[in-house]
Amino acid sequence: MTYAAPVKDIAFVLNHVVGLADLSKLEGFEDATPDLVAAILEESAKFTADVLAPLNRIGDQQGSQWKDGEVTTPDGWKDAYQQFIENGWGSLAFPPEFGGQGLPMTVAAAVQEMWHSANMSFGLCPLLTQGAVDAIEHHASDELKQRYLPKMVEGVWPGTMNLTEPQAGSDLAAVRSKAVPAGDHYLISGQKIYITYGEHDLTDNIIHLVLARLPDAPEGVKGISLFIVPKFLVNDDGSLGERNDVKCVSIEHKLGIHASPTCVMSYGDNDGAVGYLVGKEHHGLAYMFTMMNQARHAVGVEGYGIAERAYQHALSYARDRKQGKTLLGKSEDDQGIVNHPDVRRILMTMRSTIEAMRGLGLECAAAFDRGRRHPDEAVRERMLRRGELLTPLVKGWSTEMGVELCSLGVQVHGGMGFIEETGAAQYLRDARITPIYEGTTAIQANDLIGRKMARDDGKGLNELMVDMRSTLEALKTLQHADFQAIANRLEPSITAAETATTWLLAQNDASLPAAVSVEFLMMQGRLAGGWMLARSALAAGGLKQSADADLAYLEARIIMARYYAERILPLVESAATIITESAQSTVALDSVHL
Ligand SMILES: Cc1cc2nc3c(=O)[nH]c(=O)nc-3n(C[C@H](O)[C@H](O)[C@H](O)COP(=O)(O)OP(=O)(O)OC[C@H]3O[C@@H](n4cnc5c(N)ncnc54)[C@H](O)[C@@H]3O)c2cc1C
Repeated sequence: MTYAAPVKDIAFVLNHVVGLADLSKLEGFEDATPDLVAAILEESAKFTADVLAPLNRIGDQQGSQWKDGEVTTPDGWKDAYQQFIENGWGSLAFPPEFGGQGLPMTVAAAVQEMWHSANMSFGLCPLLTQGAVDAIEHHASDELKQRYLPKMVEGVWPGTMNLTEPQAGSDLAAVRSKAVPAGDHYLISGQKIYITYGEHDLTDNIIHLVLARLPDAPEGVKGISLFIVPKFLVNDDGSLGERNDVKCVSIEHKLGIHASPTCVMSYGDNDGAVGYLVGKEHHGLAYMFTMMNQARHAVGVEGYGIAERAYQHALSYARDRKQGKTLLGKSEDDQGIVNHPDVRRILMTMRSTIEAMRGLGLECAAAFDRGRRHPDEAVRERMLRRGELLTPLVKGWSTEMGVELCSLGVQVHGGMGFIEETGAAQYLRDARITPIYEGTTAIQANDLIGRKMARDDGKGLNELMVDMRSTLEALKTLQHADFQAIANRLEPSITAAETATTWLLAQNDASLPAAVSVEFLMMQGRLAGGWMLARSALAAGGLKQSADADLAYLEARIIMARYYAERILPLVESAATIITESAQSTVALDSVHL
């Protein structure tokens, strides 16, 4: 059940693939030098291994408990959270103006992977806080920012995100919670369900961000407003005042993430919960998107974070477990099942896909960093477009693959994987929520096609394809067999994805793209992951020339990229065929009355 953060792999991507040194030249990021970031990664590795990982199993077994409106987290949780905020882990990328450390999102994402590998239930509390801080920072008045942000940035008052209601899940236009103006504030009432860390004993206050409607609000998404609703009201001097009219009426019993309390929240059972409007009335959903984009990227990071833990567990088991004579074992003592070619296939699939997802997650974060800080406006625009385009891929593809890889992790354990004691089953149970919350995979696919591609007629995606083709050209100039093999698979994959994109953009009947949208998202995710691995292989090839090169490590990176290109990338071509040829028959299934 131990966890050792893959610091070397993460640092490799940061330093040699997504360009950390360049990021640290951008205004405001000067402190994020490769040396400082290396020290942060090492410290984070220690904290996650020593403090968070040992609590993962306890959290699963005990779960958070509800009694009379109070929620008690598992043994050790409170102390771990205290250490988490004292070490400043939650505030890495937040603005220094409110007490944050002002580091790039790319560095924060690298650290966050470790939280989710070590203890996904724990990592959810700061994940939600991060989204809430972003929404307040970008849209709230200065007064609200001054009152709430410093404590939220510090982690002393975590944030929550209250969107979902029984009738409003994927479709937030159906939100019914009410907000009635009352002087300088509003009175909020209604029920919110599935609220992560809606109530707990980790801190003395919780800051809820709540979507609700004013009495005169227009129907649909244009009538939703966003409010800050603190558990305890905050006095002018910053001290805590009265308890607000909000309570947790129950928590859910779930397949996984048992320690993360999933709360049913009731607002305004008495006089109405005091809420403060964020930004303008009726603009809430747009503001919430600030929070959701951030949170969606973070959930994608969860996807590969939990898969990394499952991989480490499976690898360790496969080295120890002996079963039959292996074909690849080199001696009598070297007969762990890891030496059966099929077990090796599974482990290579896990590892290469995790590296592909990590590369994409960090590339997306780096695009946002450049989009916000680059001195050239044209680069900023292009990079923001890139970050927004990649977000549904990071969220949708990495979480779907996270589940698949955790399931493969169970497979490596044989029967022991199905038995709770080994812990492999917990990763699969925990991972299963990630393609559901923060917008299901179908909602990510709708975002990719309906918003990110439709709004600029595929411009952002074309730019991505151009960048992929230049990586391809770089591969082709190298004579080495591994690079040629990667290029041989990357080229038809890019062409197939371009054909599928052209087909998609040409459709007039919206139901046809919708019938293949998830396939399209998964195809683009797989391809973008392969592109990241190809870049990683190119970087490794270059580094092999230096005198002090760690040749075995660099060679392994190249082999991993080749494995992915040969075994995973062909799925891009078959997906493109499905996209262009099966939409009609999928829609026609209507006539068979499902
Ligand atoms: C453990 C947990 C924690 C959560 N945490 C939070 C939280 O902190 N805050 C919060 O507000 N919410 C939270 N949620 C709610 C979560 O975001 C929703 O469950 C999710 O958005 C899906 O909504 P739903 O459950 O109503 O499913 P539905 O919307 O009913 O979807 C059911 C199925 O229909 C599909 N579907 C629906 N609409 C479309 C469409 N337009 N196109 C294609 N397919 C579609 C979906 O993909 C899905 O497969 C949490 C949920 C869970 C289980």
